Amino acid sequence: MGEIASADEVLATQLQFLKGVGPKRAADLERAGLVTIEDLLYRFPIRYEDRSHLQKIASLRPGQVASIAGRVLACGLRSTRRPGFKIFEAAIDDGSGSLRAAWLNQPFLRDVFARGQDVVLYGPVEMRGSASLQLTNPQYEILDDEEGETIHTGRIVPVYEKSGAVTAKMQRRLVHEALQRVPAELPDPIPDDVRLRMNFPARYAALLATHFPPQDAPLDLLNRFATLAQQRLIFEEAFLFQMGLIARRRSAAAERKPKPILVDDRIRESARRVLPFKLTNGQRQALKEIVEDMQRPQPMNRLLQGDVGAGKTIVALLAAIVAMENGLQAAFMAPTEILAEQHFGNIARLLQESRFRVVLLTGSTTTAARREQLADVASGAVPLIVGTHALVQGSVQFQQLGLVIIDEQHRFGVLQRATLRAKGLHPDVLVMTATPIPRTLALTVYGDLDVSAIRELPAGRLAVKTLAKPESRRDEVYAFLRSQLEAGRQAYVIYPLVEESAKVDLKAATEMADTLQHDVFPEYRVGLVHGRLKAAVKDSAMKAFAAGEIQILVSTTVVEVGIDVPNAGVMIVEHAERFGLSQLHQLRGRVGRDRHQSYCFLLYQSPLSDDARERLKAMAETTDGFELAEKDLELRGPGDFFGTRQAGVPTFRLIDLVRDRELLERAHEEASRWFDRSLPAPAAVDKMLTNWEQRFKLIEVG
Ligand code: ADP
Ligand code: MG
Repeated sequence: MGEIASADEVLATQLQFLKGVGPKRAADLERAGLVTIEDLLYRFPIRYEDRSHLQKIASLRPGQVASIAGRVLACGLRSTRRPGFKIFEAAIDDGSGSLRAAWLNQPFLRDVFARGQDVVLYGPVEMRGSASLQLTNPQYEILDDEEGETIHTGRIVPVYEKSGAVTAKMQRRLVHEALQRVPAELPDPIPDDVRLRMNFPARYAALLATHFPPQDAPLDLLNRFATLAQQRLIFEEAFLFQMGLIARRRSAAAERKPKPILVDDRIRESARRVLPFKLTNGQRQALKEIVEDMQRPQPMNRLLQGDVGAGKTIVALLAAIVAMENGLQAAFMAPTEILAEQHFGNIARLLQESRFRVVLLTGSTTTAARREQLADVASGAVPLIVGTHALVQGSVQFQQLGLVIIDEQHRFGVLQRATLRAKGLHPDVLVMTATPIPRTLALTVYGDLDVSAIRELPAGRLAVKTLAKPESRRDEVYAFLRSQLEAGRQAYVIYPLVEESAKVDLKAATEMADTLQHDVFPEYRVGLVHGRLKAAVKDSAMKAFAAGEIQILVSTTVVEVGIDVPNAGVMIVEHAERFGLSQLHQLRGRVGRDRHQSYCFLLYQSPLSDDARERLKAMAETTDGFELAEKDLELRGPGDFFGTRQAGVPTFRLIDLVRDRELLERAHEEASRWFDRSLPAPAAVDKMLTNWEQRFKLIEVG
C-alpha cells in the first residue's frame, strides 16, 4: 500500500525521477549542484523575459524580439546545400498575416509540430528575402497541451542557466513539473508571525511566483530579485542560517570557563603600570568589552577587528594582565615565527617592570631550553606564553589556561575552538584580525562571535600618501625614493607572486633586486625575500632590514604579514593592477607606522581594466580599511574576498552577500528574537546545529 509522500520527501526527490531526466541529464544537473527537487526550486533563474505581449504578425519589424500566437498552416523538414544540415520550417498565420519560423538543425521538431496546431512563438524577427519575415530558432509552445497554461512563451518567462546539455527550456519544464508535484501546503521554516511582519507570501506561493511570475509582476523588480516572493526565499535562507549561528552561540554559552575573572582597583593599577601611552577611545572601548566578557562565567568568544597599526596588541596584552592577575595563564599566538618573535620582544619589554614572566615557544627553541620552558608552563611558574598557532594544538600542558589570544592578521578560519574543547580547555578566546570585514560578512562568517572594532589610529599618525603611476614614470618614482633614502628612510618594493607563474615572477623579483642594487641604487643595500627562501635566510634579511642595515627590501607578498619597521616610509608596489584591494591595503599598512609622512606608489602596466582602475582609484582616495573592504566586496564578490572556499564562508543558494545586506540584517534580528521568545531545549538546539552544519557545508570557524 503506497503512502502519501510528505512534503519533505517530495522536496528530497531526486531529479532523475522527473519526466525526461535520464542518467546523462541527471549527471549534468548534478554537476550544476542540482540533485533534488528542492535544489531545483531553490535556484533562481538568471533573468526573466517578458514574453507576455503577443504581437500581431502584420505589425512585426525586422530586428525585434517578439512573441506571436498563431496556427500552423504547414510545416516540414528541408535539406540544405550543406550535406547533413537540415532546417525545420513552419508557416504560421495569426489572421493579421503570416510568417515563417525556421529552426536550424533540429530535425526532431518534425515530431513536435503538426498542421493545424495553435502555437506561441518567441524569438528574433529577421528579414527573409526582400519581402517576408522569419522567426529564427524561436522558443515555442504548443497550446493544445493539457497543461492549460503556457510556460515558455506568452508570459513573463524565467530563464535558467544552462547546465551541461540541459537547456534553459528543459529546466523550465522541470521546474514546472516539480512545482506540480510539491504540495501547496509546504511546511514553513519561517514562523508565521515573522512572515506576516515581513509581508512575505507563504512558501509555496513564493516558489511559484518566483519561477512563474504572475502576469502583472514588475519585470525590473524580478530582474533585481526584489519581488516579495524572491525576497522571501532569500530571507528564508538567511533566517535558517542565522538560526544556526545563534544555536551555536547558545550551545557555547552553556560551557563554563576555569573561573570568571575579578577586576578591582589593584588589577586596574597593575594594567595601567605597563601602559606606555594613553589608549585611544577605540582601544579603551574594545578593552572594556573584552574585560566584561572575561567577568562572565561562560568563555569569551570575541573578534577584535582593527586596521593595521590600530594598536590591537596592547589591548590584548592588557587583557592578558587581567587574566594573570587572577592567577590564570594566557597564550598569545601569532601566524608566523617572525611575528611571534616580534610580539615576544614587545611584550617582554612592556612587562619588564612587572612581576610576570613571559616565554617564547617556537620551533627554533633548543630542546633543553624547551623542556625547561614546558615544565614552567605546566607548573604555572610562567603565566604568559607567546608562540605560533601550533601552541595550543601541540602537546603543551598548561597549569590553568584562562585566555587565548590569536593574532590572525588577515587569515581566516585558523582558530579551531573545537581543538581547545577537545583538550578539555574552555578559556576565553580573543581573535584579532587586521582585515576590516564588512558588516554583512561579519554577520555571516563571524556571526557567532562578538565583535569589537577599533576604527581610529593612534593620534599623530599621518595618512600614507598614495599615488598610482604607470610604469613609464618609474624614473620619477626612483628619483623620489632616492630623496627619501637620503633623508634616512627605508623602502619596500613589492612584487606580486601569482601562483601559476611563480617561477617567472620569482625571476622577475630577483632581477629587480639586482637592477636596483647594481644600476639604480649602488650606494645603498638592497635585500630580497620571497616565499621559497629558507626560513632562516628570510629571517636574517628581515632582521637586517629592521636593524636598518638594508635600506631597500624587495619582497614578494610574504611581507604582507611581515614585520613592523617604523622607519620604512616608502612602499612601491609593482604590478599593482594584479592585487586585490584588501591585499593592497594590507601591504600599505607596512608603512606609515611612525610620525613621518609615508608614501605608497602603485606602479601599474597600462592599459588598466575597469576593475583595476577602480581599485587603484579607491586606494588613492582613502586609507580607511573598512571603506576599502566594502568596496572590495562590491568589486570582487564575497567568494574572492576571502580567497578560498575553506575560509568558513558558507555556501548559499540564493543569498548574495552584497545584494542582500539588508535582508541578512533583518534575518539576524528576527532569528535572535525567535530564540529569546521560544527558548528551545538544548537537545533541539543540537539537532538544529547538526542539520545546519550539513546544509551550509560549514567548517567550524569560532
Ligand atoms: P596592530 O593593530 O596592527 O597590531 P600594533 O598593536 O602593532 O597594531 O600597534 C602599532 C603601533 O602603534 C605600535 O608601535 C604600538 O606601540 C603603537 N600604539 C598602539 N596604541 C597606541 C596609542 N594609543 N598611542 C600611541 N601609540 C600606540
Ligand atoms: Mg598586529
